[in-house]
Amino acid sequence: MELEVQMEKTKLQKYEQKLLTIRKELLHELGYLEEAVLNHTTRESSGDLSAYSFHMADIGTDAMRRETAFLLASKEGRTLLDVNDALSRIQKKTYGKCTDCGKVINPKRLDAVPHAKLCIQCQSDEEKNQKQ
Ligand SMILES: [Zn+2]
Repeated sequence: MELEVQMEKTKLQKYEQKLLTIRKELLHELGYLEEAVLNHTTRESSGDLSAYSFHMADIGTDAMRRETAFLLASKEGRTLLDVNDALSRIQKKTYGKCTDCGKVINPKRLDAVPHAKLCIQCQSDEEKNQKQ
């Protein structure tokens, strides 16, 4: 049953708050203007799926690609992309489930890493693959 696998709303909100805090800190570290971020959130708070997409996203695909490349070049940027992904999973109600195998991610893991997208098993599989 759908309800069994869905996380409680209060828990989701708790993770959402955590993610938004992390996101704010990362944006700050990456040198983005607080103001731009705030405008972005207010402007797009209508609840559609793009609400948490990166604030440069509406400029166009090329700019977006450059932006993504820029973000992937730093640890903070990569985390930011993961945080954005996690926020969109909250909106799509798939948050808390492994994006690979679909199993529920251990809540302790989510408490430590709220933007985790893989369960511990898939994460360690991925790390093994990367070492090969
Ligand atoms: Zn998994």
